[in-house]
Amino acid sequence: MLKVGVVGVGHLGKVHTKLWKEVDSTQLVGVFDENRATASAAANEYHTQNFDHLEELIRSVDALSIVTTTPAHYAVAKQAINAGKHVLIEKPITVTTEQAEELIELAKQKGVKIQVGHIERFNPALLAAEKYLDDPRFFESHRMAQFKPRGTDVAVVLDLMVHDIDVILSLVKSPVKSIDASGVAIVSEQLDIANARIKFENGAVANVTASRISQTPLRKLRIFAREAYISLDFGLKSVDVFRLGKNGESEESTTALTMKLGEIEKGDIPRAIMYEKPDVPELNPLKYELELFRDAIKNNTRPIVSGEDGLKALDVAERILRSIEQEL
Ligand code: NAD
Repeated sequence: MLKVGVVGVGHLGKVHTKLWKEVDSTQLVGVFDENRATASAAANEYHTQNFDHLEELIRSVDALSIVTTTPAHYAVAKQAINAGKHVLIEKPITVTTEQAEELIELAKQKGVKIQVGHIERFNPALLAAEKYLDDPRFFESHRMAQFKPRGTDVAVVLDLMVHDIDVILSLVKSPVKSIDASGVAIVSEQLDIANARIKFENGAVANVTASRISQTPLRKLRIFAREAYISLDFGLKSVDVFRLGKNGESEESTTALTMKLGEIEKGDIPRAIMYEKPDVPELNPLKYELELFRDAIKNNTRPIVSGEDGLKALDVAERILRSIEQEL
């Protein structure tokens, strides 16, 4: 039985607390929050222990979910890793890349795992799209949220855009070549809307937009891969795929929509565009994320979203922020 605890039981920490109770082969030992009332309410609601001191909770567990506000991730994670505990740190891993590098190095020394809460990697829509994502060349992402004071302690690039940065980096296996970005602070003291164009060494390009001052929420990623266009809705958990048909496939196909590629022909063989709507598995992405963290610890394997992945996403986010500063 893996003993786990949750630090920071605000909006998302409460969900970690609830879901840890549903993860097999684990035991939720308790929670800690610097806000005593928040901690006590969460402990009562989920029938677990409310620890008065962080070090006590750390001593009582094998692994922790760190779901504090982002600026506190570093100090809490450092304390837990120093004590030899595995950590699932919510995204973004830390506020600065220096902090993330230090935690990764410390975790190596102590022989513990860091997983980062880039939850979209566990979104069933992305999982359903995976088999079509051969050699992605162009990405267009929109992550638009309504304004909420939560999360505004960091720029929208670190709060929201970092999700798409992480997904895109996981799909493009090539270093970033250049970044050109712009953004503005409108409601908060930090950037509330931002757009970045990321070019990769292999020629792939990502046009990434995030806003936390939008009327209508939207979480969409459109991907043009070598043989397919994939439209992915993280919010609705749905995927639409338009892909080039194989020779003669259009005649045999029973798929809903087949369009002949009139004049566009490859050699002498006319190709059709096939429409597919892949089945999306029924799963709770956060619960799945916790289960895979448990498995990485038990099997001593690299977490799917490792500390290094969190660092890479943060590094690109920092480069985007620097590019925006230069524009201002
Ligand atoms: P929140 O403000 O609702 O909760 C944060 C909690 O952390 C508060 O209760 C606060 O008292 C507590 N806290 C702050 N510093 C602490 C410390 N040093 N020790 C103990 N407790 C401390 O925020 P939230 O929306 O739940 O976000 C928490 C984290 O989760 C953030 O890093 C955010 O980026 C991340 N997040 C991730 C997703 C996702 O989709 N993966 C979604 C929302 C939030």
